[in-house]
Amino acid sequence: MQNPFDRELEDRLVRYAAIDSQSDEDSPSSPSTDVQFDILRLLETELTEIGAQDVRLTDYGAVLATIPGTVPGPTIGLLAHVDTAPQFNATGVKPRVVRGYNGGDITFPDDASLVLSPEAYPYLAQKQGHDIITASGTTLLGADDKAGVSIIMTAARHLLENPDIPHGPIRIAFTPDEEIGRGVAEALPKDLGADFAYTFDGGKMGEIEYETFSADAAEITVTGVSIHPGFAKGKMVNAIHLASKIIETLPQATMTPEVTDGVDGFWHATEMTGGSSEMKIKIILRDFEREGLAEKGEMLRQVCAAVQATEPRATITCDIRPQYRNMRYWLEQDMTPVDLARDACRKLGMEPVSVPIRGGTDGSRLTEMGVPTPNLFTGMQNIHGPLEWISVQDMAVATEFCLTLLGLAAEEA
Ligand SMILES: [Zn+2]
Repeated sequence: MQNPFDRELEDRLVRYAAIDSQSDEDSPSSPSTDVQFDILRLLETELTEIGAQDVRLTDYGAVLATIPGTVPGPTIGLLAHVDTAPQFNATGVKPRVVRGYNGGDITFPDDASLVLSPEAYPYLAQKQGHDIITASGTTLLGADDKAGVSIIMTAARHLLENPDIPHGPIRIAFTPDEEIGRGVAEALPKDLGADFAYTFDGGKMGEIEYETFSADAAEITVTGVSIHPGFAKGKMVNAIHLASKIIETLPQATMTPEVTDGVDGFWHATEMTGGSSEMKIKIILRDFEREGLAEKGEMLRQVCAAVQATEPRATITCDIRPQYRNMRYWLEQDMTPVDLARDACRKLGMEPVSVPIRGGTDGSRLTEMGVPTPNLFTGMQNIHGPLEWISVQDMAVATEFCLTLLGLAAEEA
C-alpha cells in the first residue's frame, strides 16, 4: 500500500522530530523556550521554498502562511503545534522507522526493557505491513504534534505544485506552547484570518473531535502566623496544616482524575509548595459543562471557607481563573466545519468517530475566540512517553483526508 505521500511524510516527521522543541510551563516568556525557534524558523524557510505566500514568523512564535485559493470558498485554517510535551525527556530524539511492521513486539535500541506490543496496544495490531516510526527508548517521539506539522506541510506542498486542484484560500499556522496551554496568542485569531479552522492533533484514523473539557485553574494561598517554635504556644498558625486540611476535605475518592472517566469532570491538585508561614496549592478544575465546572469552583471555595473558619488568624484566599471552554458550545450552533470533516472521512471509506476529549486543544481557545476549530486525526499514539509511535501510512491517510476536506469545502461554496 504505497501512497505518493508516504516517503515525504516519513522524511518530514523524522527530520522535525529530531529537532528539540520542548515547551516549559515554568517559563514566563513567549514562546516559553528559545529552542522552539529552531523548528519555527525551519518551517518558515520551508514554507517559503514550496511557494507559500505571506510567510511570517510572529513575535509570539507562530509561523503563518497563505496558500491562495484556486477557486472561491471559505478561508480555512490548518493548525499544528511545534512544541513537545514537558512531561518526558524530549531532548536528543532519535526517530527510527520500522519498515513493513511484522505484527510482533517492537523493541528499542536505547532501552532494552521497553516493549511496544500489539497485545497491550491493539491499534498497533491493525498496522501490520505499515512503516512505524518510534523514538529510540529514552525520549518521546514528538509525533504530537510534528505529525500534524508534516501532514499540513505535505498537503501544502502538493497543492502549491498542482494549481489545477480546486480549493479555497488556506491559512497555515504552526504554533508554539500548546502543551502548556499557551498556544493561542491574543492576536492569533485575527492574524489567522480564517472562517474556520482545524487542528491536526488527534489520534486514531477517523477521529473528529469537537467536544473538549471546560477548564479553570485555581490557586489557593494559605497564610499562617509565623513565630519561633520555641515561643509558639498559643501564637503559631502553621500554614502546612491548613493546606493539608484543604486537600483532605476535598473529595478524593469520587472526583479526582484517577477515579473518573467518560463525561465526569474532576479536580486535580497539581502542585503544593511553601512552608509553615505560607502555602500555595495549585488545582485544575475540569468538566464538560459550564454548570459542572462552576459547581466544582464553588466546592473549592466552600472548602477553603470551612477551613478558614477553623482558624480565623490565618488568611486563606482562593483565586479561580478560566482556562478554556468546551468548543461544542460554539460548534453546535454551526456544525459546518464538523460536517465537512465527517463527509471527507466517509468519502475516503472511513466512519467518523467523535469522542469528547478529556482535555483541551488549541482549538478550544480559538473556537471561543471566534474561529471554530475542531481537531482531526493524524495517527499519533501513546503520546508524551517513550512508547509513542505513528504509522507513516496513517499519516498519508490523514493527508488525503485533509485534501479531500479542502476540496469538499470549495465544492460546497
Ligand atoms: Zn498535541
